[in-house]
Amino acid sequence: MFSKILIANRGEIAVRVIHACRELGIATVAVYSKEDRESLHVQLADEAVCIGPKEPKESYLNIKSILAACELTKAEAIHPGCGFLAENSKFAKMSELCGLKFIGPSVKAIKFLGDKIKAKQLVKQIGVPVVLGSEGAIKTKKEAKKVASEIGFPVIIKAKAGGGGKGIRIVNNKEELDSAFSLAQSEAGAYFGDDEIYIEKYIKNPRHVEVQILGDEFLNVLHLGERDCSVQRRNQKLIEETPSPAVDENLRRKLGTAAVKIARACGYYGAGTVEFLLDEKKNFYFMEVNTRVQVEHGITELVSGIDIVKSQIRIASGEKLKTKQKDLNFKGHSIECRINAEIPEKNFLPSPGVIRDVYIPTGNGVRVDHAIYSGYSVLPYYDNMIAKVMVYDATRKEAIAKMESSLAEFIVSGINTNIDFQLKILRNKDFLNGNVDIGFLERLGY
Ligand code: ADP
Ligand code: ADP
Ligand code: MG
Repeated sequence: MFSKILIANRGEIAVRVIHACRELGIATVAVYSKEDRESLHVQLADEAVCIGPKEPKESYLNIKSILAACELTKAEAIHPGCGFLAENSKFAKMSELCGLKFIGPSVKAIKFLGDKIKAKQLVKQIGVPVVLGSEGAIKTKKEAKKVASEIGFPVIIKAKAGGGGKGIRIVNNKEELDSAFSLAQSEAGAYFGDDEIYIEKYIKNPRHVEVQILGDEFLNVLHLGERDCSVQRRNQKLIEETPSPAVDENLRRKLGTAAVKIARACGYYGAGTVEFLLDEKKNFYFMEVNTRVQVEHGITELVSGIDIVKSQIRIASGEKLKTKQKDLNFKGHSIECRINAEIPEKNFLPSPGVIRDVYIPTGNGVRVDHAIYSGYSVLPYYDNMIAKVMVYDATRKEAIAKMESSLAEFIVSGINTNIDFQLKILRNKDFLNGNVDIGFLERLGY
């Protein structure tokens, strides 16, 4: 096992990884930008190294600076968290070239799956359903028109190197195609430094259902069931739950088998997520693989009893998975609400600033992952998610009641949050009936 790990991230996910390390008896190194020196992850880690100014490019995305911090502190491994460099194959490769263990899948798998077109081609080859669409990258407007008329409108344009819901454009008809094509291309170029895009049939009212996978370096791969992440605003997840109200035992087995098959086909190890769309007839289609721990991993931990972050670290240290698929037993129901510093009434405008008072809900089956405290300043330069409230109970109905009770107790003063907005969703009749798809919030006007 490692004796020291550097965590190349900030916020709640960095704190989450520090907890896992501490439980495993591993020393931790935090990295931080100048503006972040008061952050919780810096205070909780055994050591902390400043890696640059506030701009992510100069700090949390600064590979050389992070590797220098490893050298300085003699860390043996790097946990990238999620976001920032977590899916950057160049970072993984440079870490390994410096003799550090990158806690994640192989450089090859990160690189291959980071190309959403290549990933889709492989998945199609091994017989798992994919969304109908272009065979490869679309280079010209003429090609785009041809493909779109073949598959029929509406279509969705996506970036080959995409992530975080960025660079996505829905196109309803031929007239919209030209400008959508140019916009998607330039957005992809700006966000991902790669302007290649591809086209898919736009699936009507699908659910976003994803499968958590966990593999070791000896070709053992498990799936830890699904998460339903259909409550989204602008392609960004707001509420996640497991099990999915739309998935029965039979479908769960099919989704799990498909996810494991995909993982095996690319020699996957570590934690990962295979994302699918589930249409109104319960057909599922592969969307992409996220080669890192997911924001919403905690709800899977609550129903499976498996600690995903500790597993990642153990796997990276060369341990074999001890659990077999048949030994896994998913119990109860778990829900997560993402709490963001924002003003829902003002079109979800981010609301950075100093937090005056905080009261974090607690109780039986309540887990809150966060990195806030009274006096903490939510910075405008980074993600505005400040906490994840997760609950666990025997049934979906009880879990919703517990979430409602927890959110009603949650106090964050000094800044605005979406806590009341989340409460409103929890009380929505369609949500209560488990009747949601990715267009749910948009139809409500959000
Ligand atoms: P990202 O890499 O940005 O996460 P994804 O390919 O996972 O991109 O898609 C993000 C979201 O966009 C999905 O969760 C879903 O809500 C929506 N989406 C993606 N592809 C389609 C599609 N073919 N039809 C309908 N919605 C889609
Ligand atoms: P998922 O993990 O379900 O795909 P996201 O797409 O929201 O959910 O997760 C990736 C996003 O997490 C990144 O695009 C980034 O905006 C955000 N992120 C980056 N750093 C952090 C952090 N320290 N804590 C939480 N979220 C972060
Ligand atoms: Mg995705």
